Amino acid sequence: MRQKIVAGNWKMNKLFHEAEDLISAVANEIDDREPDCEVIVCVPSVFLEMAGDYAEESQIRTAAQNVSEHESGAYTGEISAAMLASMDIPYCIIGHSERRKYFGETDDLLLRKTERLLDNSIKPIFCIGEVLKDRESGNHFNIVESQLVNSVFKLNKDEFSNIVIAYEPVWAIGTGKTASPEQAQEMHKFIRGLIEKKYDAETAGKTTVLYGGSCNANNAKELFSQADVDGGLIGGASLVAADFIKIIYSF
Ligand code: PEP
Repeated sequence: MRQKIVAGNWKMNKLFHEAEDLISAVANEIDDREPDCEVIVCVPSVFLEMAGDYAEESQIRTAAQNVSEHESGAYTGEISAAMLASMDIPYCIIGHSERRKYFGETDDLLLRKTERLLDNSIKPIFCIGEVLKDRESGNHFNIVESQLVNSVFKLNKDEFSNIVIAYEPVWAIGTGKTASPEQAQEMHKFIRGLIEKKYDAETAGKTTVLYGGSCNANNAKELFSQADVDGGLIGGASLVAADFIKIIYSF
């Protein structure tokens, strides 16, 4: 069986005391009532140490939102994969559409970042997804395929087996416009088929593929009930403890 995951992507939100309140509310809930999924909070890097303390004491897991493509050295402001590993951070988001758009991150760069993480035994949560124009022109399958072919499909099978994929249609992120369960399932099945073609059926069957894009407490259950949807990467709704908790128990 594949690992189900609900991951909250906080982006650049919350102050320290708010972050701690949110993590402690979620951690307490999942420790009291074991969910059918792994629960990850993808926090701003300044909160990783605090989040890591909760992870040591509870079931909650942490993720960084970014990592440098360099190993170490004179890169002011950057954070290396080895630094994350030295703090026992198990996951890191890579390829989020906001980083592709606002920071010009290319498939090539994202592959290098992915390799740094894997070198340090950190699992990338690798985001892919088409913009509205590509969905409307029917080019969405080609876009998603090329994002995979030009990045993580350059890894060998052992390396790829540590990747979590997050399908996040850009037109659904932060817009309140969710992909329908059928649209999500169609794309997730397509992605799993590509993984099977590139590697093999066993790898495809084991790869966790998350859905992200205006997933919330009201629509999570139907999205997560789709055969190839293994959970969600949640933005806005992960910032409110009650909403995030409802999503966690949507399997
Ligand atoms: C995201 O940023 O990864 C995301 C899915 O955001 P939202 O849930 O707010 O659409």
